[in-house]
Amino acid sequence: MVEVVDIKQGSNAKVRQAAWLAAAVVPDPEIPVVTVADLGILRSVDVSADGTVVARVTPTYSGCPATQLIEQMVLEALQAAGFENARVESVLSPAWTTDWISDDGKEKLRQFGIAPPEKTSNSKRALFGETVVHCPRCGSAETERVSEFGSTPCKAHYRCTACKEPFDYFKCL
Ligand SMILES: [Zn+2]
Repeated sequence: MVEVVDIKQGSNAKVRQAAWLAAAVVPDPEIPVVTVADLGILRSVDVSADGTVVARVTPTYSGCPATQLIEQMVLEALQAAGFENARVESVLSPAWTTDWISDDGKEKLRQFGIAPPEKTSNSKRALFGETVVHCPRCGSAETERVSEFGSTPCKAHYRCTACKEPFDYFKCL
């Protein structure tokens, strides 16, 4: 439940929390089942003494075409929630990593049919620098990369040799 906070009366912590909640529900433009908070793109939301809300976002990779759109959407979400003096800053360092995707976010990706990023496993294939990607549908590790680029530059296209289903792998690092 989102608590209704009077922006002018509320304490700084409550305002900050309300602003975070408003920004956190913004969906990723490329994969709308996950939010910018699930992906770890939304880094922080702060309220300055004069009431300006500053949201900080880290793009999934430099040059990602969705970055500007995400900044715009976060700004609009904050303004729609009543934070008229809001601004969004892009933070490039430290660089975004797939480690920032929450467990909840990974599960949502899987349910959507996108294999979430995998940590390099210690299997034989990993020794050759190949990441073992598990099929999001049947969980099989018997998958093969069809192409380096899937429906967006952030994804690679894979096929499961166990269940024969094609799927996208979220590969941005
Ligand atoms: Zn499969």
